[in-house]
Amino acid sequence: MPAAQAPLPRSLEPLPEESLPGFLLRLTHRLDLTPHQLARRVTLIPPDDPHARVSAAHLLMMQSARLNAFAEVTRMAPADADALTLRPYADRYPALARALVRPGSIPRPRRLSQPWLLVNHSRYCPACLAGDGTPIQNRHGGPWKRQWRLAVVFACLDHWTFLRSECPRCRLPALSGRTGGPLALLPAANAPRLHPAQCRNWLDGSGKREVCGHRLDGAEPAPCGPHP
Ligand SMILES: [Zn+2]
Ligand SMILES: [Zn+2]
Repeated sequence: MPAAQAPLPRSLEPLPEESLPGFLLRLTHRLDLTPHQLARRVTLIPPDDPHARVSAAHLLMMQSARLNAFAEVTRMAPADADALTLRPYADRYPALARALVRPGSIPRPRRLSQPWLLVNHSRYCPACLAGDGTPIQNRHGGPWKRQWRLAVVFACLDHWTFLRSECPRCRLPALSGRTGGPLALLPAANAPRLHPAQCRNWLDGSGKREVCGHRLDGAEPAPCGPHP
């Protein structure tokens, strides 16, 4: 049961189809916090553990005590907080239902290794990440969308473009962090002052820990798009 926290003085309204990590990244940018600081503030990790990570299972769903605490701190309705997770897709997407539900028990995340769920990275549409030109999206970027985590979704029908998987600079899957570590919802959770559209993967090889930081919202248009 997460400890109660006072509501944040300022929050953000979730964008249509926005994912939980996407919302958290925009809110860290608005409040000038690191993802780790924000995760502690919104009760996704315990307040007293400096090494805790936000579980990737929250991508799938938040259980009700956590969901209500998170919604209260971020000043949104519990239904809007639930809509940041993939849980509402469960009745239409069998792979997700299987990841959530054991027969005869209440839904809870039980398997994160489903090949039809991209829990350790996200595809992305550069134009969606760039935002729709409204002041709030100009300031904090557009949404990292939930459905980009479903392996069957490969195109953005708002911008008629195929989704990208890799960052053009580090060549690693977007939001994947680094290979081999435990699954985390937000890679580079202690890196300050990254824009939500910046790549958060760690660069290997230099000997020192450096985040890639490439802007994923500025990618060149794809040479061809999907046909109706
Ligand atoms: Zn798009
Ligand atoms: Zn990168």
